[in-house]
Amino acid sequence: MSDAELVLRSTRVVTPEGTRAASVAVSAGRVTAVLPYDAPVPEGARREDFGDDVLLPGLVDTHVHVNDPGRTHWEGFWTATRAAAAGGITTLVDMPLNSLPPTTTAEHLRVKREVAADKAHIDVGFWGGALPDNVKDLRPLHDAGVFGFKAFLSPSGVDEFPHLGRTELARSLAEIAGFGGLLIVHAEDPDHLNAAPRHGGSKYADFLASRPRGAEDTAIAALIAEAARLHARVHVLHLSSADALPLIRAAKADGVRLTVETCPHYLTLTAEEVPDGASEFKCCPPIREAANQDLLWQALADGTIDCVVTDHSPSTADLKTADFATAWGGISGLQLSLSAVWTAARARGHGLEDVVHWMSARTAELVGLDGRKGAIAPGHDADFAVLAPDAAFTVDPAALHHRNPVTAYAGRTLYGVVRSTWLRGQRVYADGEFTAPRGELLTRTVSSRSGRPLERKT
Ligand SMILES: [Zn+2]
Repeated sequence: MSDAELVLRSTRVVTPEGTRAASVAVSAGRVTAVLPYDAPVPEGARREDFGDDVLLPGLVDTHVHVNDPGRTHWEGFWTATRAAAAGGITTLVDMPLNSLPPTTTAEHLRVKREVAADKAHIDVGFWGGALPDNVKDLRPLHDAGVFGFKAFLSPSGVDEFPHLGRTELARSLAEIAGFGGLLIVHAEDPDHLNAAPRHGGSKYADFLASRPRGAEDTAIAALIAEAARLHARVHVLHLSSADALPLIRAAKADGVRLTVETCPHYLTLTAEEVPDGASEFKCCPPIREAANQDLLWQALADGTIDCVVTDHSPSTADLKTADFATAWGGISGLQLSLSAVWTAARARGHGLEDVVHWMSARTAELVGLDGRKGAIAPGHDADFAVLAPDAAFTVDPAALHHRNPVTAYAGRTLYGVVRSTWLRGQRVYADGEFTAPRGELLTRTVSSRSGRPLERKT
C-alpha cells in the first residue's frame, strides 16, 4: 500500500470474504488493498483507527422517493442525502415519481439532475418511469443513464404517474427487454383491490383488509408470466405478502429473470402493533401480521428475497391524517434503515455480514454498480459506514435529518449507531455534522461530478 493516502483500521472490517481485523488502504477515493490489521502505515498516509467499531461498505439504497423538484417540502436532495449519510447510506437511487416533473422523459431527467447536482451529500442515481403513454421515451431515458424503469400495476397515489394495464405492461416490457433494460414493479392488482372491502377511518385492521395479500400475489403472478414470455428482466418492489413467496421461488427455479426486494418496515413492524389512527405506519402494500413477517425473514435467509431497501416515501405531517383512507401512504425511514434492520436481524441470529449483503452488495448488483459499490474490496469506491453495532438509541423524530419529523419508528430503541460515513475516502458525516456536498450523480454505466453527463462522452 505504498501509495496509500489513507489507511482505515478496525478490528471488524466486513469484507466479501467475511469479517476480520484489517487495514483498508485508500488512494484517489478507491480501496487499493485490504491488509492485515497491523500492516505498517506508509509514510505520509493518514491513519484512522476505529477500534472495535465495525467498518462496513456504505449502503446502497435503490428505493428512495426524494420528491425534488416539485414536492421539496416533502423531501429534497439536500435533506434526503444528509439523512441517508447519517444512516450509513452512500448511494441512493431516486424513484421517478412524487417529484414534479416525474422522471418519465430524458428532458425531465435532465431537470432532476440539475436540481440534484449541488445538493447531493452522497452518490445519487435515477430510475425512469414507464407510463401508459411514454413508450417512445423509454429508450432515450435508458441511453441517458437511468438504472431501469418503474411501473405501477395499480394507481400510484399521484395523478401524474398513471399505472399500466395488462396490455400496456406487455408493451412497455417488450420495449425495455428489447434494449436489455430492467423493469421494477409496484405489484398490486387493481381488480383485486377494487374487490376488497372499502375502508375509511382510523382502524388499521380495516386498512389492512383493503390491501389484501391476494392483490400482490395476483399481480406478481402476472408479472412473472410476462417476464417469462418476453425473457425480460423484472424486479418486484417492496414485497409484503409472504403468500407470493412460493410463486417467486418457482419462477426463480424456472430461470425467470426475477429479483425481489422487501423493506425495513415489513421486517421490523407488525400490523398487530399499529395503533389506530397512526398513519405514519401507512404504506402500500401494507405492513402485515407478525406471522407473515416471519416468512419474509425466512425468504431473506434463503435468498428468495434478494435485498432490503427503504422505500423512504415521506410527506408533510399534515398529510398524515388519522384517517387511513385519505392519509398519504409512505413510510419515512431513510436514516433509520440500517439500525432498524440490524436490530431485528441480530435478534433472529443474523450477522452484520447478512445485513451488508441485503442492503449493499445485492442492491449494488441490482443496478449494475457491483464493480464499484457494495463491497470493501480493491478497486471499489472507498465508501464506508462506521457502525457501533451494540450501541443503542431511542428514535426521536425531531433529531432526524429528514425534512419532516414523522416516522413509524418514533420511540423505538434500536441497536447500531452510525459514527461516521465516508464517500470516496472523505468523511462526509460524523457525530451529527456534515461536510459540504460532494456526492456524484451516477448513471448506469458512467458517472460525472459535473451533473451534466447526459452528453455522452466519446
Ligand atoms: Zn416506493
